[in-house]
Amino acid sequence: MNRSAATDLGHLRRAVELSRRCPPSETAFSVGAVIVGADGEVLAEGFSREADAHAHAEESALGKLPAGDPRLRGATVYSSLEPCGQRASRPVPCARLIIAAGVPRVVVAWREPDLFVTDCQGTALLEAAGVEVVELPELAEEARAVNAHLLS
Ligand SMILES: [Zn+2]
Repeated sequence: MNRSAATDLGHLRRAVELSRRCPPSETAFSVGAVIVGADGEVLAEGFSREADAHAHAEESALGKLPAGDPRLRGATVYSSLEPCGQRASRPVPCARLIIAAGVPRVVVAWREPDLFVTDCQGTALLEAAGVEVVELPELAEEARAVNAHLLS
């Protein structure tokens, strides 16, 4: 494994760890997210339902940085689950928040199953906007395990 792959795995593992802090829900996934700058500095972290009952992890993390923070333009968003491409609880899905923030790269552990939305289009939206999306299936099982009660 090369160095950047090891770095990716480390940050994504942290995102999975954060997902375990989510207040439990019977109707929404528990997700963790970490935003890391180009120099490897952790800029922000977040998890589902951190600030309110509908907050998503990526949204929580992005919300901790000032809008237009120039560091976002070189950053990577690590999320235990693929960013949502549509959502019922808010007008703007996380994929669009990431695009609007100018983040060029997203690393995920797990693709959203067709449970709450059919055909999650987060990855497609991101890629269409030129964002690189990397999936690390090594951590998919751990990210999924946090949500096992929703998937039985
Ligand atoms: Zn979302």
